[in-house]
Amino acid sequence: MKYIDEFDLREKRVLFRFDFNVPLDENSHIVDDGRIRAALPSINYALDEHAKIIIISHLGRPKGTYNDKLSLNPVARRLSRLLGKDVILAKDCIGNEVKHLIDTMKPGCIVMLENLRFHQEETDNDDDFAKELAGFADVYIDDAFGNAHRKHASNVGITKYINKCGLGFLMRKELNYFSKSLENPFRPFVAIIGGSKVSDKLQALGNLVRKVDKMIIGGGMAFTFLKAMGYEIGKSIVENDLIDTAYQGIEIAKKLGVKLYLPVDCVIAESVDPKAVTKIVPLQEIDPNWMGLDIGPATIALFREALFDAKTIVWNGPMGVFEIDAFSRGTFAMAHAVANSHALTIVGGGDTDVAIHQAGESDYITYISTGGGASLELLEGKKLPAIQAIEECWQRQ
Ligand code: AMP
Repeated sequence: MKYIDEFDLREKRVLFRFDFNVPLDENSHIVDDGRIRAALPSINYALDEHAKIIIISHLGRPKGTYNDKLSLNPVARRLSRLLGKDVILAKDCIGNEVKHLIDTMKPGCIVMLENLRFHQEETDNDDDFAKELAGFADVYIDDAFGNAHRKHASNVGITKYINKCGLGFLMRKELNYFSKSLENPFRPFVAIIGGSKVSDKLQALGNLVRKVDKMIIGGGMAFTFLKAMGYEIGKSIVENDLIDTAYQGIEIAKKLGVKLYLPVDCVIAESVDPKAVTKIVPLQEIDPNWMGLDIGPATIALFREALFDAKTIVWNGPMGVFEIDAFSRGTFAMAHAVANSHALTIVGGGDTDVAIHQAGESDYITYISTGGGASLELLEGKKLPAIQAIEECWQRQ
């Protein structure tokens, strides 16, 4: 694999694929610019090398048509502010006007092309579209970790049409942290897996159980495991077709000597409603018409204890419906416990990232991934398509 610092970028047209898919409010103001900040090391490096910087990204899901609300304009302005430099936003990401803009660029200048997903060809991984993008570059650097699990024209197709391609500093950081934890972890290695469904994380669970010393399962997915163990779980979220699989998972953990931690009590309510009456009950006492929406205090204590001697912790998925105050305590308690541990702590993007920030613990986590889906695929033991495409590009040469 080649990284940005192994290329000669001097006065070259360097095309960066970033993931600037930042959350926006209803007025298209950026709510969190973490993904833009995460791109700064690669951009600053290219600026120091006096490169001509061309940036491509998607934003939201415009589904192939122009949508003013999903223009990269606020992103270009924020990047300009963070760098203290002009960032010119092109009206489109392909076409003669864009080509002219790039042809007349001076070294040290930055041009951002408009939202890739205004063209359906991007998500279709269309060859002609990929070729046109590739034509803008002498060197292509993919630093869009959040999009690396997708097979799109700007991160996979493009690598067929450019010889000099590699990864940026953010990609290097993401891959290093995940391989540090998955390939040669400091032990005990603990995985905390939560979220709504087992089916979404089945492959990750299957891969992790062979690597960890302890596995903590919380959130909605725990109820499929608990049902497999014979508990009555009332109206809690469950995937009945995966009960056998969950049972087999418990057996595999046993055989491998992995300590499996499941909830022993939970916060229940009759509906997922901020105003719902709630009760804390041991697992054996979930009322038939109620549902488990958070882990209870005894479970928090148990899970905390499981983290006590951890040297590596990987966490993906909340412990309850943390978006609602009444069901957020378990997730926030875990955020504090992970942040206070002495372990190398890696959090896999998405909802868990949001929860860590809301708990005010983001500064105390070793690494928070910028990509929920991509980090989950790494936990599943898969190679990301964007990375594979670059490897194949070098193999062809
Ligand atoms: P995921 O995207 O799979 O990580 O799932 C995150 C979602 O799981 C969040 O929106 C939570 O509200 C939801 N969740 C967590 N625990 C539960 C639960 N016990 N019942 C229903 N949904 C849950």
